Amino acid sequence: MKKLYIKSYGCQMNVYDSGRMADVLAPLGFTQAEDYIDSDMVVLNTCHIREKASEKIYSELGRIRQEKERRKKLGGDMIIAVAGCVAQAEGHEIFSRAPFVDIVVGPQSYHRLPELVAKVESHGARGNGLAIDLDFPEVSKFDLLPAPSGGGVSEFLSIQEGCDQFCTFCVVPYTRGAEYSRNVPEIYREALTLTQNGAIELTLLGQNVNAYHGLGLDGETINLAKLIRHLAKIPALKRIRYTTSHPLDMDDELIALHGTEEKLMPFLHLPVQSGSDAILKAMNRKHDADYYRKVIEKLRHARPDIAFSSDFIVGFPGETDEDFAATMELVREIGYAQAYSFKYSPRPGTPAADKESQVPEAVKDERLQQLQELISHQQRKFNESFVGRETEVLFDRKGKYEGQIMGRSPWMQSVHVKDGEAYAGRLMPVVITEGRGSSLAGEIVEFASDTRYNTLMRNTK
Ligand code: SF4
Repeated sequence: MKKLYIKSYGCQMNVYDSGRMADVLAPLGFTQAEDYIDSDMVVLNTCHIREKASEKIYSELGRIRQEKERRKKLGGDMIIAVAGCVAQAEGHEIFSRAPFVDIVVGPQSYHRLPELVAKVESHGARGNGLAIDLDFPEVSKFDLLPAPSGGGVSEFLSIQEGCDQFCTFCVVPYTRGAEYSRNVPEIYREALTLTQNGAIELTLLGQNVNAYHGLGLDGETINLAKLIRHLAKIPALKRIRYTTSHPLDMDDELIALHGTEEKLMPFLHLPVQSGSDAILKAMNRKHDADYYRKVIEKLRHARPDIAFSSDFIVGFPGETDEDFAATMELVREIGYAQAYSFKYSPRPGTPAADKESQVPEAVKDERLQQLQELISHQQRKFNESFVGRETEVLFDRKGKYEGQIMGRSPWMQSVHVKDGEAYAGRLMPVVITEGRGSSLAGEIVEFASDTRYNTLMRNTK
């Protein structure tokens, strides 16, 4: 058996793709390793969304190179591959900056990794820039990928890729290509395989997932709402999530489904990026802040206990104090369960990168700090509101401490429970005993004695 180390950077789509790369390489005798030390092959599955992200790759490659050199001295070797969005964006430049890299492969052609490995191993393409594939192939990789191995209780399932929105700060349309929706039978087959391998929860992935429009069984085109209803019929599947959505593609059928489909979790990641109409326009988001408010309002009407997360960029070119104040105002109004916030990072090849009115770093730092303080405050308040409440948790991983297990509530909160190993991989009712900044602590109801349970539940009354 050959050892394969795959490191994923960035989004859940990359995590999904890394799993599929392991499935593609398994027939060549590669099994996954926890570390690159002593590995026969290393794949860095990269993210290009921010400058810092892509620069990180080259420093990581420097460390891996030393291990490759060490193995060479012992008569061994190592294949180094760079995959993902940096591979797609930088291509041959990676070979010139890091000539010890053997393979460069884009997100749409990693199903051809076996051929690229063969090129390196038997056709002397080691370290000479020949093993590269950045195609957007006619035939989708999904048609050529083996069945997923899966095995987790919570799994990702890619249903849509690419994006046609062309927000002026974003590289995705250039690195992942145009929107492509997989057909329903293929998705359904993969969902069945994953649930047969133990998945209870599926997160449907897409760069613009709610723009999904795939071919159905009878050749008709169906949207995300219909696809979710279809998948919800799988008895073993208890929870469905989807990410990442665009406000423009939250159609009324999908919104209404949040009120009717109990397997659809009451938590939605809905990026807005800014609260200022002027900045939303400059970002080419194609909607204003009021439009976003209305979508949130409709969702809360359909499912009153729904909670939201979002993405925010501060310091977008031209952002004034008033624009930033509008973002803060929107965040206060919506009240997020959690949210991601970043300083604007000019990406080569994106329209916003060439804009004159770049915001000074110090101003970006100041605004980011203010925004993150507000978001953390909201997240802690949201978590504290769960103390004394009972909620269902899917336990999918070990905790830091002996006997501790961790899982996710329906609202995507991280929940940890002591002495719960027996419940790993199961959906269990938990009474929440503590709400913290980014997690909850609780006790499995079955464990809590009646008096303890009543005391805990009474705490909130
Ligand atoms: S919708 Fe999302 S993925 Fe598409 S261009 Fe905009 S930010 Fe990028």
